[in-house]
Amino acid sequence: MSAERYAIGIDLGGTYIKAAVVTETGMVLDERQVETPAGRQREAVAEKMGTLLTKLLQKHPEAVGIGIGSPGLVDAERNMIRESPNFPGWKNVPLRLMIAERVKRPVFLENDVNCFGLAEHRWGAGQGSQFMLALALGTGVGGAVIINGQLYRGSSGAAGELGHISVDMQGPQCPCGNYGCIERYLGNKWFVAAAQVELTDKSVTSPEEITRRAESGDAAAIRFLEGRGEILGAACTSLMNIFDPEVIVIGGGLAQSGEPLFRGIRKAIQERSYQSLLKEIKILPAKLGKSAGARGAAAVGLDAGETQ
Ligand SMILES: [Zn+2]
Repeated sequence: MSAERYAIGIDLGGTYIKAAVVTETGMVLDERQVETPAGRQREAVAEKMGTLLTKLLQKHPEAVGIGIGSPGLVDAERNMIRESPNFPGWKNVPLRLMIAERVKRPVFLENDVNCFGLAEHRWGAGQGSQFMLALALGTGVGGAVIINGQLYRGSSGAAGELGHISVDMQGPQCPCGNYGCIERYLGNKWFVAAAQVELTDKSVTSPEEITRRAESGDAAAIRFLEGRGEILGAACTSLMNIFDPEVIVIGGGLAQSGEPLFRGIRKAIQERSYQSLLKEIKILPAKLGKSAGARGAAAVGLDAGETQ
């Protein structure tokens, strides 16, 4: 019996570059992590990724493909990063080619949150579904859309920016240009700023701290998390009206806030949805943890490797 096919996925982050070697059934054969070069210069980043990949390929030479998940806008042909908020100065960076030249293998590029969504769909909380949405709560709020079991990329590769659903047209302005986007309420720094106001406590400096307080029974922290959940739930309601998904997977650090956040989401959906859309919807926390991005990038490598 021949061994399972496997691919290598790389998750390019502002702080770490993570790698995972993953088989078709989702088994992780190897995992590595290196620090993203300070300054995040394109050549230095490509060099570090190339070195990491070369090491992994020596140990896992039969990899059928290499996928890279990158933050920011990835062009429709998935050759380059058009721009990335985490990597200032990166404009139309041909990352696919830069890495392929270094490792002499075919390389495929995808948006990092799309990779997260792909991994959760294939091996995580959305496994077995045909219509799935994913939201990743972090510095910003990212999204991914799975339609008929496939990642939906849109006309220019930019689809799935679910964090920029507006829930208040007169709300605070978002870096994207729109007003009242859910990112503006749930992105880490805005989440913390709102918590400082609502809890009248300037010493709150991280989402984890609010979660800890809620877990220890702090009523104000619990109420705050429920309220943020309701904002997210209002956006989920709009998304349900558009996509009629079977499951919405919520990932990223804040999704660890547990029950109060999810209670708020469910409450808003209950109050706002078409009843017919409501009955089947599942709102689930992501399952794969911090390696989901690298695993999803490996899924991109597995899929692309098939067409070689
Ligand atoms: Zn926005």
